[in-house]
Parts: sequence; structure tokens; C-alpha cells
Amino acid sequence: MKFDYDLFVIGGGSGGVRAARVAATEAGARVGLAEEDRYGGTCVIRGCVPKKLMVFASEFSRHIEDANAFGWSAQNDGFDWQSFRQKLHLELERLETVYKNLLRNAGVETFDQRAKLEDAHTVSLGEKRVTARTILVATGGRPFKPDIPGIENALVSDDIFNLEELPKSIAIIGGGYIACEMASIMSGFGVETKLIYRGDQILRGFDNEIRDHVAHEMSKNGISISLNADIQRINLTSNGLEITETSGRKQNFDQVLAATGRMPNSDDLGLEKSGIEIGKKGEILVDEYSKSSVGSVYAIGDVTDRSNLTPIAIREAMSFIETVFRDQPQKIDYDLIPTAVFTTPEVGTVGLSEQEASKYGPLAIYTTKFKSMREGFAGREDRVFMKLIVEEQNQKVLGCHFVSPFAGEMVQLAAIAITMGATKLDFDKTIAVHPTISEELVTMRNPTRRA
Ligand code: NDP
Repeated sequence: MKFDYDLFVIGGGSGGVRAARVAATEAGARVGLAEEDRYGGTCVIRGCVPKKLMVFASEFSRHIEDANAFGWSAQNDGFDWQSFRQKLHLELERLETVYKNLLRNAGVETFDQRAKLEDAHTVSLGEKRVTARTILVATGGRPFKPDIPGIENALVSDDIFNLEELPKSIAIIGGGYIACEMASIMSGFGVETKLIYRGDQILRGFDNEIRDHVAHEMSKNGISISLNADIQRINLTSNGLEITETSGRKQNFDQVLAATGRMPNSDDLGLEKSGIEIGKKGEILVDEYSKSSVGSVYAIGDVTDRSNLTPIAIREAMSFIETVFRDQPQKIDYDLIPTAVFTTPEVGTVGLSEQEASKYGPLAIYTTKFKSMREGFAGREDRVFMKLIVEEQNQKVLGCHFVSPFAGEMVQLAAIAITMGATKLDFDKTIAVHPTISEELVTMRNPTRRA
């Protein structure tokens, strides 16, 4: 059968654009791609990129204080959100154009509209129908709001980048990546910030000591963290938004942000009609090669709800290309995914938490906590925390965790060693770079304890 395209991609985010571009340029495929919103997707338009720029912006209040401690006379005349936001959006437009050009230069035919599956090889674009040998669904995800009375008054992360003005106070519901990052950003901007989390410590799934340490540092930075707290309702009052916790406690805020997770974008895509199996959250169920239950339809990225991170969507795109266009089926290894939470201070982590590693038998736990030279000189009480989890029997480093300035940068490099299977001896043999924060990673000689 002759198809209009070799590959039709639905969704122009990080995963979809990568797959489309590489299929067209490196595999010589005829590729079409539909995007109903903005090219670049969550990461570029309403996620990682604007978030990281906001992290940078929010840290300047600290930098100004530190500058004074280092002998400069710098004055903080306040933060101009409107001016920052305008520049932020210009940058996002620039990046969106880069993404569009990547596709255009690769010869991918783009459709700025919603696409739906009609059957295993057909996509509808409004009234038009096109056919493709392979269809790739890369439609990402969207914020999820819990079913709480008054939740319609709460913002989601998408809204933060478009705020007309910064609130004076904000309550952030949730204790995951977005809740913690937004709490640090808002607090850095001088917004009175309260994080309200239903569990007993923020960042569930991370190493427990790391969770405790970063929560402690965030509190020291002025964020109020309320744990084991559920929200009963949110009322719109003449005095802002009133949050009632299940304990009965009430408090008013200018804004409330629901950072309570994300859902796959799989509604109304014609999936069921095409016989594609979906899971409980609406995620497209795929095999280890990203193939759905219909052989010609693949799915990658957040719509599959595997590991919802940009580099994973890109890795899934590349493995899809290897599998489908180069006839070299390639699985993805989800075991060692380095990740960072851009709180102040940052969290960087790769490998297992102590809780997860405990099933591998006796462990040696190396930790260090110290005041960094820069923070110390500036008169701050911040403490860096580092942790290595080592399997006693073979000295393999199973996990490496940081709470530190630049933890995201550090963990990327540590991840190379851990991915290569480094042992504690490899860390010990490595000569320190002095004076740095990260040198402590190779100078932890004796275990703090055994577990
Ligand atoms: P997360 O899954 O990380 O966190 C969701 C949070 O909301 C959890 O604390 C969860 O609690 C809580 N929650 C869920 N449902 C409810 C509810 N009904 N009532 C109250 N609280 C609730 O999701 P995020 O939205 O923070 O981020 C989504 C994903 O995006 C992340 O998992 C990550 O994959 C990605 N991301 C990555 C970033 C990075 O790499 N730096 C940055 C931002 C996002 P509980 O823990 O009890 O389930």
C-alpha cells in the first residue's frame, strides 16, 4: 500500500520534533507533523525552559545580598515581573521559531492544527485525511487538578508564566518537582510562600535524608512547609483565596497553585476507535520499543507516562528511530536516570535512594554536610549535603545524591561515573579539584554508617 508519509507525528514537543527531524534527515523518510498549540511543547513553552529562567531570576535577591557581603555595594530595588515576563516570552518565541525551523529545514511538512487517529494508518486533520506507514503519538501531558471544592480558583504551572502580576502570597499544593521548584522561585521573588503537602515529607521517592535536608534548607530560606496537610476547599473571598485544610485551619492567599501532578494528553485523539490500549491515567500502553497495541502506532514521552522527563522523551524518540527506521530494535534503560530539582538549594540525584538500595544487602553510607566557602563568607547558614550509597560486597556506588548549589550540574557528571559502574575506590582514586564544593565527593574516606 502506498502511504502519503512514511511517518506522521502528532505533537511538536521535544520527543515529537526529535523523531520527525531525525527520521527526515537521517533516514530519508517523508514526514508530516501536526501541532495544535506551540512548537517546542511543555519543556520549551511552559516547563523546563521558562522555569529555569525563573529560577535564575529568583536567585538574584540572594546574589545581591551576597554581593554586599563580598564588598560590593549593590542595592535591591525590587524585582520587575512585567519586564522579566516580557523578555521571557520573547525568548520563548525565539525558541519556538528555532523548533519550527528545525522541522522546516529537515523537510518535515507541518500542520498547525489538531490531528486525530482514524485508524492504524490514517490521521485526520480537520476535514483532510492523510495516511502514514507509521504514526507516532507524542502529545505530552497536562497539569492535573484534584477534585477539591473551589479548585477552579487555583492556578496550574502553565499559568505561572503568564501572570499579570506577582502575588504577595501564594499557597502551593503538592510536594513534587513542580511544587518545590515553584516554591523556591516564588520565595526568591519575595512572595510569601506556603507549601502544603499531604505526605510526611516533600519529594516522595527521593532519598529520605535528601528530602529532610532540602526541606530544612527551603524552610530556612523562608518557605513555610506544611506537611500531612490536605486541602478541604478553596473559597474566593474579598480578601483573596481562603484555603481550608482538613484540620480546619484557614488561611488567605493572593494565589493558589495546584502542583499536584500531570496527566497524559490522550483525550479525544481517536485512540480507542483505532484499537489502541490505554491505561488508568489515560496513558498509551506501549512495549519496551514504544510500540502501542496497534503495530503501526508508536507513542513516546509524557503521553506514555513512563518517566516524564524531556531527556527521556528524546531518548525514546531516538530509540524509536533505531527500531523503526534503522531496523535495529533498541530498548531504553530506565534504571539510571539522573535528575535535578531546581529548588534553592538544588537537589541532584542519580541511582538508588538508601531505601531502594537496602534490598541489595549490606551498604556503606557516606555522607557529608558542610558550609560552602562562598555561602560561609557571605554569612549564610546554608549547608551542602552529599551522600553516596555503596554496596559493601563489591564497593559499587549505587546512588549519589546532592543538595547543593549547582547540584544539577554536579549530578550530570557524577552520572557518567555511576553509569559506567564506578566503585567507591574509583571515587577515592580521583584527585580532588580544589577548592570546589564537588571535591567533597571524592574525599569522603570513611562511611558515616553501615546499613
Ligand atoms: P509529581 O508527581 O512530581 O508531584 C505531584 C505532587 O502532587 C505529589 O507531591 C503528590 O503527592 C501530590 N498530589 C497528587 N495528587 C494530589 C491530590 N489529589 N491532593 C494533594 N496532593 C496531590 O508531579 P509534578 O506536577 O510536580 O511534576 C510532574 C512531572 O514533571 C514530574 O514527576 C517530573 O517527571 C516532571 N518534572 C520534572 C522536573 C525536573 O526534572 N526538574 C521539573 C518539573 C516537572 P504524593 O507524593 O503523596 O503522591
